[in-house]
Amino acid sequence: MNIDLRSDTLTKPSKGMLEAMFQAKVGDDVFNEDPTVQLLEQKLADRFGMEAGLFCPSGTMTNQIAIRLHTQIQTEVICHKYSHIYLYEGGGIMSNSLASVKLLDGAYGKISQEDILEAINPDDVHAPETTLVSLENTMNKGGGSIYRLEEIRPIKAICKQHELKLHLDGARLFNALVETGENPKDWGAQFDTISICLSKGLGCPVGSVLLGSKSDIKRARKVRKAFGGGMRQAGFLAAAGIYALDHQVDRLKEDHVRAKKIGEMLAVHPLVSEVFPVATNIVIAKLKGTSPAAMLQKLTEKGIKAVKFGSDQIRFVTHMDFNDQMLEEFGVRLRAIQ
Ligand SMILES: *Cc1c(COP(=O)(O)O)cnc(C)c1O
Repeated sequence: MNIDLRSDTLTKPSKGMLEAMFQAKVGDDVFNEDPTVQLLEQKLADRFGMEAGLFCPSGTMTNQIAIRLHTQIQTEVICHKYSHIYLYEGGGIMSNSLASVKLLDGAYGKISQEDILEAINPDDVHAPETTLVSLENTMNKGGGSIYRLEEIRPIKAICKQHELKLHLDGARLFNALVETGENPKDWGAQFDTISICLSKGLGCPVGSVLLGSKSDIKRARKVRKAFGGGMRQAGFLAAAGIYALDHQVDRLKEDHVRAKKIGEMLAVHPLVSEVFPVATNIVIAKLKGTSPAAMLQKLTEKGIKAVKFGSDQIRFVTHMDFNDQMLEEFGVRLRAIQ
């Protein structure tokens, strides 16, 4: 039995999802003629109480389009130093938008209203103009940590007061929402744009959706075209997204339960010094007396895959294709590693 916990992107479409994809009604979406894409975009926008959505090939694209919408050349984005938009999107803030970045620190990848306030540049010839704050929920490099709505409201107030846009990289926002029970519409009300990934825990083969106002999404459609993300009969892919929203959201809780158990197993392992608090489906373990490469090698020999996540850390991510039987087997094999 192969136990692959490198990422929640590794899942294969379920049988029900594949059937939904085969049955999709499609058209050319660059001509605005794909009814299934339009249904997915509107369905997700409605769920968050936002006006419109834009289906894109990846979460990197939805984030980068949002950054393009909310910045101009020589302006600045405020985000955490561990943000996906900064670390893992190929330097796109610079190359796509010619914008600068102000990186903030904060426990488990989260930034505070006080630090944001301090980071807004003064109206001064020396400084790039701050135009955007970008948050991430859940926070991948923070160990799948969750922002609560009450942490967002004061940040929103600051953005409003200083006329800054507020974007959410919500690649795993549904992981946060199933855990907190918060209302998606309350989240939609806080942000100018939200990016949601369908290809992570929700189990789709491809796709992310950018949510925002009608006017922002109209502009976003043009940016998507220039980024090469205009797709034709994309309804086959959008059908997977609709299926996931209807059938595969609540089950994210199961991933969280299994991740917590993995966290407990790792916490008592002799080669682990610390496990980040497990809030959702991501488990980050700090190692002691071994390196990530050596530990990953030992795991590989036992048929377990994880990834290096920093100089002394490894990451495990639970997902749809990881079940209770695999969890039990994971425990047996982990205990055999010394
Ligand atoms: C995966 C991910 C994205 C988007 O990545 P793609 O691989 O481009 O879809 C964005 N933000 C976070 C936090 C992610 O984990």
